Amino acid sequence: MASPDTFRILHGDLSRIVISWTLAIVSEGYTRAQLDKGDFDRDAKLVVDELLATAPFDDPGLNRLFVIAAVRVESERPGSEIKLLDPVPASSPFRTAFGAMYGRDSFEGKQIERALHGDSQLVKDKVQQFTDLATIENFLVIVNNDSTDGGLAHDGVGWFAKARSAWPKVAVHELGHQAFSLADEYAYRNSQSDPVRRLPTSPPPTEPVEPNITLDTNVATLKWVGLVTLPQTFVPGTVQAAACVRDHPLKPTDPEIPLNAVGAFEGAGYHDCGIFRPSRVCKMRDSAFPFCAVCQNAIRVKLGGYMLDQRKAEPPQKVGAWTHVLPFATRFAPGTLFYNSVLGNYALTDNFRFAILERRPDGSPLLVPGRPDIGVGNINAGWSTLAPFALGGVQHLFGHDFGSGRFAMWRLGGLGDTLIQTFFDTPGGTTSHVVIVTRDGAPHMIAYNMFTGDALMSRIDGNDAAPVDPVAMTWGAGITAVVPLELDGEPFVLTYRAFAGEVAIRKITASGFVMAFVRTAFWPTNITHVASTPKDGRPYVTRYAAGTGRMLIDHVRVNGTGLDFVCRVDPSPGPGAPSLFGIGAQVMGPFRSRNPGGLILFENLYLYRALSQELVEVFL
Ligand SMILES: [Zn+2]
Ligand SMILES: [Zn+2]
Repeated sequence: MASPDTFRILHGDLSRIVISWTLAIVSEGYTRAQLDKGDFDRDAKLVVDELLATAPFDDPGLNRLFVIAAVRVESERPGSEIKLLDPVPASSPFRTAFGAMYGRDSFEGKQIERALHGDSQLVKDKVQQFTDLATIENFLVIVNNDSTDGGLAHDGVGWFAKARSAWPKVAVHELGHQAFSLADEYAYRNSQSDPVRRLPTSPPPTEPVEPNITLDTNVATLKWVGLVTLPQTFVPGTVQAAACVRDHPLKPTDPEIPLNAVGAFEGAGYHDCGIFRPSRVCKMRDSAFPFCAVCQNAIRVKLGGYMLDQRKAEPPQKVGAWTHVLPFATRFAPGTLFYNSVLGNYALTDNFRFAILERRPDGSPLLVPGRPDIGVGNINAGWSTLAPFALGGVQHLFGHDFGSGRFAMWRLGGLGDTLIQTFFDTPGGTTSHVVIVTRDGAPHMIAYNMFTGDALMSRIDGNDAAPVDPVAMTWGAGITAVVPLELDGEPFVLTYRAFAGEVAIRKITASGFVMAFVRTAFWPTNITHVASTPKDGRPYVTRYAAGTGRMLIDHVRVNGTGLDFVCRVDPSPGPGAPSLFGIGAQVMGPFRSRNPGGLILFENLYLYRALSQELVEVFL
C-alpha cells in the first residue's frame, strides 16, 4: 500500500505562504526505505542551504519573503535504476513516482542524455493536493540518481539529478530558468564537444526575451545598460573573431577584465557567435559560479514584488488638512509630524494610532477619532521647508520660509508632545530645499537653491544659534528633489532633476561632496516625490508620480554607486494632488508602526493625499 505523501516547511512561515515567494522541493526516485532513512530530507536541506548561501537569495531583506516546503512522494523503485533509453519510451519502465527519464531532447539528430524530466503536471498536482500548499508557484524535483548527470526546466518544474558532487548548485541553476526566466549563458547545445555555431543571419535573428542574453552590443541600447561597469570601449569585452570560435579571447587589458565586470561577452544561448552575455562567468553559464550582476538584478526585481503586501493594508486614515507630513521621533516612538503652513498648526503622532492601538502609550484616555495626535500646537504659518534632526539625543526641527528667508529651530519638549522654539533669524537668503545630514557625529544643514544651483553646508552646533562654518558647493540649477541618505553610517544626498530625469548621489565630505553616481534620463521626468525609506537595515528610496499615482522602489547600491529598481508598488497608491506645496514639502516617508500591544516594529511607508486628506500606509 502506498504511504501517504507528507510535507515539511524548510524555510519561512507557513502562515505567510499566500503572500510569499514559494518553492516546493519534491522527491523522485526515493523508496519508502530511503525516505524513512532521511535521504530526501537531507538532500532537500542541501538545496535550501545552497540557495540561501547564493546571492541574491542570501539577502536577509529578500529571504524573509520565502516559504520553502519539502514534499515527500514515495517511489516504488529507486531513481538510481533510471538509465538512458534510446528511443525514450512513452512511459517510464523505472517505476518511480513521476516517471523521470534521461535523453528527453535531441540536437542535430543526437539524443541529449542530460535532458532529464518526468511528468511535470503530476508534480504540481502532488504538491497542490495539500490545501496549505495550493498556492505554491515554483517546483524543483530532486531525481535520486547519482550516476548520470542531468537537469532541465520543463513545463514550470526544474528537474535535476545528483551526479555531480556540487549538484545543489545545479538545482539553483535550474531554479534560475524555472522561476526567473533566465537563459543559459553557455554556447554549446549538448556538450562542450559540439561543433562551434554562429547565429544564422538570415532571416535576421530576433532579440531574445530573457534578461541575460542579447544580440545588441550598443551601450546606448543594451538591455542591461544600467548595470554596465566596463568602459564603452570594452563593450563587447571579447575579441569578435572573423572565424567563429568557442570561448572568444578577451580584449587585452591590464589588469584583465574582472570575472564579475558587466559589459557584453560573445558566446551564450547555445551559440558561440552572435549572442552576448553580461559577464565572463555566471551561474547560468557554469553552475559553479555566482549569478552575474544582471541575473542577480532580474531575480531581485522579481522577488521585490513580494515586499509589498497590500492585502493587509489598513484603509486610508482621515487625518485632516496638512501641507507637510514628515517622519519625526516623539518621546515614545518613531512618529510623524503634521504641519499646516497656511494656519501654522502642527500635530505630532506616535504612529500607534495607525496600528489601531486604542489608547495612548502613557495610558491616558482613548484618542478622539479624527484627532490622531499626541500633541498639537502652532509654530506660525509660512514655513515652506521643515527638516527634522537630532541634537544631543533630542529630536529637533529646522524650518525655512522660502518667501521671507527666515529660519527657525525647535526642540521637542514637554512630555515629548510639544515643539519649543529655540532660535529665530531672518538672514534674508532664500533656499528652495533644506536637508540635514549627520557628518562626524554632528548635524549639518545643507541649503540648496534650485534657481542659482548653489548649495551651502553648515554645521549645527547648538539649537540657539545659526549654523557655522559654511562650505559652498555648486550643484547646478533645476534640482527638484533633495533627499538625505545614510549609507553605512556615511552621509549622502540623492538629488533628482525632473526636466532631465537626472539622478545623482553625492557623498558629503568636509570640503563639500564627491559624486558617487550621476545619470541623466535615469528616471522618468514625472516624479513628484522622492523619499528615503530604509528597511531591514538596507537603503531604499521610494519615488512617486502624483500625476499617474505610480510608486516605485529602488535599492541604493553600496557607497551610493547606483540604484537598482526593486519593485513597483502594486496596486499603486493612486494619483492625487499629494501636496499643496510643490517645493520642499514632504508628504511621503518611512513609517514605523507597532503591533497593537506588541513590540514588533513594522517598517512601512506613508503617503499623505492632500486632496482627500488621507494618510495611506503602504506595507513593505
Ligand atoms: Zn540551464
Ligand atoms: Zn547571468
